[in-house]
Amino acid sequence: MRAEMKVSGIVQGVGFRPFIYRIAVKNGLKGYVRNRGDAVVEIVVEGRKDGINQFLKELEAEKPPLSRIYNITTAYKTEEKGFSEFSIIKSSGETEVSGSVIPPDVSICDNCLRELRDPANKRFNYFFITCTNCGPRYTIIDGLPYDRPNTTMNEFKMCSFCQSEYEDPANRRFHAQTVACPECGPEAQLASNNGELIDCEDPIKEAGKLLEEGYVVAIKGNGGFHVSASTTKTEPLVKLRQAKHRKNKPFAIMSPNLETVRSFAEMNPCEAELLTSYRKPIVLLKKGSNYCLSELVSPELHTVGVMLSYTGLHAMLFDDVKEPAFVMTSANPPSEPIVTDNTEAIKKLGSTVHYFLVHNRGIAQRCDDSVVRFHGKNLCLIRRSRGYAPEPIQMKQASELCVLAVGGELNVTSCILTGDKAFISQHIGDVENLETLRFMKKSIQHLTKLTNCNFEAVACDLHPKFTTTKLAYELGNRLGCPVVQVQHHHAHAAALMTEWNVEEVVGIVCDGYGYGQDGTAWGGEVLYCNREGFKRVGHLEAHPMVGGDLATYFPLRMAAGILHKKVDVTEWLTSMSGKFPHGKNEVELVLKQLEKGSVPETTSCGRVLDAVSALLGICYERTYEGEPAMKLESVALRGKDKLNLPPRLNENVLDTTVLVHEILTNKDKISVADLACSAQSYLARGLALLAVEVAEGLKVKHVGFSGGVAYNEHITAAMRKTVNNAGLKFLVHNKIPAGDGGTSFGQAVVAGFQKR
Ligand SMILES: [Zn+2]
Ligand SMILES: [Zn+2]
Ligand SMILES: [Zn+2]
Repeated sequence: MRAEMKVSGIVQGVGFRPFIYRIAVKNGLKGYVRNRGDAVVEIVVEGRKDGINQFLKELEAEKPPLSRIYNITTAYKTEEKGFSEFSIIKSSGETEVSGSVIPPDVSICDNCLRELRDPANKRFNYFFITCTNCGPRYTIIDGLPYDRPNTTMNEFKMCSFCQSEYEDPANRRFHAQTVACPECGPEAQLASNNGELIDCEDPIKEAGKLLEEGYVVAIKGNGGFHVSASTTKTEPLVKLRQAKHRKNKPFAIMSPNLETVRSFAEMNPCEAELLTSYRKPIVLLKKGSNYCLSELVSPELHTVGVMLSYTGLHAMLFDDVKEPAFVMTSANPPSEPIVTDNTEAIKKLGSTVHYFLVHNRGIAQRCDDSVVRFHGKNLCLIRRSRGYAPEPIQMKQASELCVLAVGGELNVTSCILTGDKAFISQHIGDVENLETLRFMKKSIQHLTKLTNCNFEAVACDLHPKFTTTKLAYELGNRLGCPVVQVQHHHAHAAALMTEWNVEEVVGIVCDGYGYGQDGTAWGGEVLYCNREGFKRVGHLEAHPMVGGDLATYFPLRMAAGILHKKVDVTEWLTSMSGKFPHGKNEVELVLKQLEKGSVPETTSCGRVLDAVSALLGICYERTYEGEPAMKLESVALRGKDKLNLPPRLNENVLDTTVLVHEILTNKDKISVADLACSAQSYLARGLALLAVEVAEGLKVKHVGFSGGVAYNEHITAAMRKTVNNAGLKFLVHNKIPAGDGGTSFGQAVVAGFQKR
């Protein structure tokens, strides 16, 4: 008999065809397997009925580790066509909307790592060693089906050795599209900072030594360039911070293995598992008591972002050195996307670095490293990118509309919603300039092509002036489909609702900024949210932002604005004038503006945390997003809620003036750590109480927490306690970023699922 199958899921680029070949032959079947242009695998087998049944059993039970099967359709026919053998045949270009997609990049597997170290192996010390189970995928693919001509390996013709492995069903590189060796594959080269090639025996090991000696090296990886430096020496880190105009923002680092990581950081089993998984994201780990790296790596934070080497090239960097880790930060000029092209790199990074370590394989899609942290066992995705994108989020419900969502302004991702799957793009960044916008458009195009989607709606933020809002209208016009504008915090709450598949939620959404329904700045919100929309049912007290955006960068301005409501701040502010960039003059200006009033206000939770951070002398200037609040969290870790201030609610507004004022009055009586902890606790308990009251009134069973502040472990834990004590269920994210990288998903589900 004959069976014709279509398998959808992540089934291309994961060794699926070779696997099918093996189980078909094993079960005495004839026929073929091939890739289709929509990332589906098509199989036809002929043979005895029990052989086919066994084949199907094994297909599901023994599928390759990286594959995901979403759906298998099988049609049985009695008549046979009479194949002479089973074979992998030429891919077809056929496409339909299948929900299938190519896998994310997969870090080097143990088998390849072993061969890389084996002097007897053909690929000994060959940096671009890969197999059917590992290597770049998303970043190497120009189009589908996943065959070599559709990747940037196209220009490397396999040598006879690689070809023989590629054709050998018993070989683990049977049909591995990225197969290559030193003879036929990409080459690595070391170059000076103006691009002149440097002759050396092994450019990669040489680069490792240069890093250890204190040089700064730009390194081309799979999804873009990194800038790399020693983590134990001061000078290269100072140079790097100056060149990148990056005063304090922590650098991610890369280590060769877990054992080395343990020499400077703490790890729980979940963290260790993800660090060594095929995804290998940057995991924010607690610095260990034995922390021995330079303070300049992650200044004044209790965490350090660590990833393990994830390609042959990265592994080899550590071969001849003693450094426990290298800085490995995305190489991008300020507010531009990560650099991917060799010539562009030399132009844009030449003045930042001493050397370049490059290779001659093109990068089809740029992709930054992912960043995560754990709250105990719960995974919090901060940046969902390499190792995750474009793997879809599987939802419990299917959307009737196919939606494209374009996110907001900061930490932007795009999202394609089709059926019961949501494809979130890699991290795009802050869409404020042309370069990033171009990257965004390109990634949307790529993802659209990969998923074969025809959009029926475009979703974006409510802010009328965001670049992404304009982009959404442009796309809506071109595609002839409606544009749905979604309020920022609604998007956060809707994302949480969909992640947990609940019909309604009281969502606490705390972040830095979101454009409110009334046009004012929101950011400490309690929303009742269901499938029909949302209602703002509570929020933090609104406070003046003296100087507008300046109050974001210099949080003493926020503190002054808050305190001014209760006390005369003249004396205190004057005593702080040394902490303002323009000293006394600036203080006078701030005072004048406060007297005059009519300053724009915000309910942002981030701004209150910033104000407390400045008031406690922890951070006076924000040099990167979240800095004052992150440093506050690090200090609070050592403290207790000594203030134990009862939350003061005026109607459904949490009073925060009382909090900031109490902190000022107790500054000399209670330690900074205890006050930092007390501030976080007050906000957490207050917002949770507010949400619980609303939930009880509306008989809603779930209270959720989203927004960038949800990365704060203490605030999340304190909220959970209050909510659980009230007998309600507390929801947080673990598949979608709580921060703004998750809002494209939220926008998409609002546009796709909302009842009209
Ligand atoms: Zn491998
Ligand atoms: Zn070869
Ligand atoms: Zn947000």
